[in-house]
Amino acid sequence: MKSFLSSRHAALVPYTPGEQPQNMEYVKLNTNESPFSPAEAVVEAAKREGGKLNLYCDPTCRLLCEKTAELYGVDPENILPVNGSDEILYFAFTAFGDEDHPIAFPDISYGFYPVYAGICHVPAHVIPLKEDFSIDPEDYIGLGEHIVIANPNAPTGMCLPVSAIERIVSTNPDNVVIVDEAYIDFGGESCVPLIKKYDNLLVTQTFSKSRSLAGARLGFGIGCEALIRDLNTIKYSTNPYNINRMTQACGIAAIESNDYYMKNCRVIEENRAYVTQELQELGFTVLPSKANFIFASCYALAGGDYYQSLKDRGVLVRHFDKDRIRDFVRISIGTRAQMDTLLEQTREILKERGAL
Ligand code: PMP
Repeated sequence: MKSFLSSRHAALVPYTPGEQPQNMEYVKLNTNESPFSPAEAVVEAAKREGGKLNLYCDPTCRLLCEKTAELYGVDPENILPVNGSDEILYFAFTAFGDEDHPIAFPDISYGFYPVYAGICHVPAHVIPLKEDFSIDPEDYIGLGEHIVIANPNAPTGMCLPVSAIERIVSTNPDNVVIVDEAYIDFGGESCVPLIKKYDNLLVTQTFSKSRSLAGARLGFGIGCEALIRDLNTIKYSTNPYNINRMTQACGIAAIESNDYYMKNCRVIEENRAYVTQELQELGFTVLPSKANFIFASCYALAGGDYYQSLKDRGVLVRHFDKDRIRDFVRISIGTRAQMDTLLEQTREILKERGAL
């Protein structure tokens, strides 16, 4: 069949989202969603705004900016709400990168970074993680390139201290350092306070994980006013109404229900500690995680085999068929009952292989 795709995109390899089976037969631990429902006030807000869908939404997201700013102790001008944090990453690659301004990131990190580099024609400077899968801050100190680091990193879950990020930001004053904090609410320390000190720091966060809103598509960036203005140039050149009115209302209600969500995060941390210990007792290697997932490998099973065996038994996790991490699977942390099902099925699989 004939293709009209511009030759500019001939080499583009798109991102592969995690499986989203619509029949919900699975214990779904593959895309780091929250197992907890949105707060009641959020559901009510969606219903209320649903009746006004004939009207365009507020393109400035003023109320949402004000609420978010209040929660994070910054000014509304420091906030840019987006249609999932994926969108702000795309805006940032578009705004700051070009042929002469590469963007550096780790070899094992969020799979969308190389895709955005590809679509924006920004050279990607891929820097290997250390042998233990941690990021070596030294690799980024004084690099003289734009940088994007997921902190905690995905899919490892490992987190750098703010002091290490600050050294990276302060030694690259002429470049933008994007800190992708999609998973920061599960025990890591946020870099948001640093935005008052550094005009080259962009922190991105999402409502998809800790605030149970993956399906609503809501994220935000926090940075100095000038950075946010540049990102708004891209937003208003692509999709000014990027956040629909139901999602804006849900975001505001979610911030007002913050205590509910932060309690849920503590439950996830408890369940993470529990499942990590149980898997380690079964002989698994589990990387130290500050996220709502763990990255685990088993001496007795290849990663792809473990993934498939779990899937056959109704438990969905994520496997990346990629060098260095082929032996691992990424397991989202769910409820205690979901973790027990995962462990039960894992024990069965190991028994079947004669490994237990
Ligand atoms: N950053 C990282 C590291 C992620 O894992 C994800 C989730 N896939 C995102 C950003 C984007 O999440 P969302 O667009 O749902 O905010």
